[in-house]
Amino acid sequence: MAVYKGRFAPSPTGPLHAGSLVAALASWLDARAHGGIWLVRIEDVDMPRCVHGADQLILQQLAACGLDSDEPVVWQSQRSDRYQQALNQLIEQGHAYPCGCSRKDIEAALRAQGASRERHHIAVYPGTCRPEHGGLQGKPARAWRFWIPGTAEVAWTDRRLGPQTQNVATEVGDFILKRADGLWAYQLAMAVDDAAQGISHVVRGEDLADNTARQILLQRALTLPTPSYMHTPLVLGANGEKLSKQNGAEALDLGDPLRALNAAARSLGLPPHTGSVSQALTAWTTVWASAWPA
Ligand code: GLU
Repeated sequence: MAVYKGRFAPSPTGPLHAGSLVAALASWLDARAHGGIWLVRIEDVDMPRCVHGADQLILQQLAACGLDSDEPVVWQSQRSDRYQQALNQLIEQGHAYPCGCSRKDIEAALRAQGASRERHHIAVYPGTCRPEHGGLQGKPARAWRFWIPGTAEVAWTDRRLGPQTQNVATEVGDFILKRADGLWAYQLAMAVDDAAQGISHVVRGEDLADNTARQILLQRALTLPTPSYMHTPLVLGANGEKLSKQNGAEALDLGDPLRALNAAARSLGLPPHTGSVSQALTAWTTVWASAWPA
């Protein structure tokens, strides 16, 4: 196998919790099980959602769990130039266009079409500002959107979930690359950085599986390689919803990292371990290697 490079890419919207540790542990184990390199990338492009100091706290929590980045940690907030270059390339090649629609404009256009407002929890953009529909028509440009090629049925095979397909045109629509507030969209930043960092294997939470098709379209448009994908089980809160800071997930207890790791390991179907953190990680790496060939 070519060089294996994996990553954990948390958004610093709060400390690590039981759910995010599952993704961190799985990506680390997968990298170690395949003799690979593991990186940490702080995804702080959505600055209004970031919490001051959460990035450092996440790094401390990972270190307490024996999960240290093999290369210097990267912060997306310092990489705007790369995202702008990628956007310029997409514009030059006819893969992006400016959009002047406000949220209200989009809702009105969807109502006029009699279309259902929500699919996959996001409004499917009706294509109002597409160049073939007349473009901005005098409106100021607010955002940049990806111009989805006519047929956008994307198929890929997830290592855990199996074959997946999504028609991005009908299920998502032309998605945002740069937001009206000037911030970079996660999709673009992630596609650019995974390629720039040479990521060969993405292992992350199942809640992000829905983004994969959009990311593959961006990789194709930017002629970047597509990594292999594996989405890990989600930890559900008491209300049956994905555990998140919003529904009361507690920060991991730095005083007892093995307990937190054992809980994450259980979600991944790994046996409990009573030794030290490093012994547990070594034991789980062996189990993982036979359970999940790359
Ligand atoms: N930053 C994203 C999050 O914390 C994860 C991105 C990814 O792993 O692709 O939800």
